[in-house]
Amino acid sequence: MKAIILLGAPGAGKGTVAALLKASTDYLHVSTGDMLREAVKARSPVGLQAKSYMEKGELVPDAVILGIVRERMEREPKTAKYMFDGFPRTLEQAAGLGALLAQFGAKVDGVFLLDVPRDVLVDRLSGRRVCRQCGAVYHVRNIPTKVEGVCDLCGGATYQRPDDSEATVVNRLEVYRRQTEGLIAWYRERGVLFEIEAAGAKEDTSDRILRVLAGL
Ligand code: AMP
Repeated sequence: MKAIILLGAPGAGKGTVAALLKASTDYLHVSTGDMLREAVKARSPVGLQAKSYMEKGELVPDAVILGIVRERMEREPKTAKYMFDGFPRTLEQAAGLGALLAQFGAKVDGVFLLDVPRDVLVDRLSGRRVCRQCGAVYHVRNIPTKVEGVCDLCGGATYQRPDDSEATVVNRLEVYRRQTEGLIAWYRERGVLFEIEAAGAKEDTSDRILRVLAGL
């Protein structure tokens, strides 16, 4: 088992880069945000618990998050390689992930911190569009769909996530700064943190990560 983490503010490009990495590696993409959105859509018990937090841009409680990640990992083979996106978000989640991996004799192999200036983050989030059907990520200017409102990959309808509205974006960036930045120090101390310049083209960011991955 191997495990890497994509870390970075909302809008840093974690999901976009994950899609590229997924295509050129055998890492499984585990996005807690995607899993929660599916749970909300399906009105499952987890979805009902998570909905109000998500609408406000607050973090869903650690126990809920660790529960869905554990369930996911129990379904995969013991040799699986994980690329976590949007998880862990708190020190408690990082500790929980460490404990989960330890059960499989594994640890976090690399943490990629996507470094993007704040004005770029706000622009990316406010212009982001997501496919309702397959979750593919677009941007009205930077990564437009070929036909407006229609996903290039599956033909599904694209939409703006309600939490990408300007009011919520500001809160999400603040929540990130408060709760997630402690993780940077935690992983840096453990010698697994790699800072990746991520303000430019998605391919450049993904190439930088692939070069580090080759040496892990
Ligand atoms: P994301 O798609 O990663 O931006 O996540 C969307 C929303 O889902 C966040 O604003 C949180 O409300 C919730 N969420 C996703 N991942 C986590 C996590 N690891 N811990 C707590 N809340 C999360």
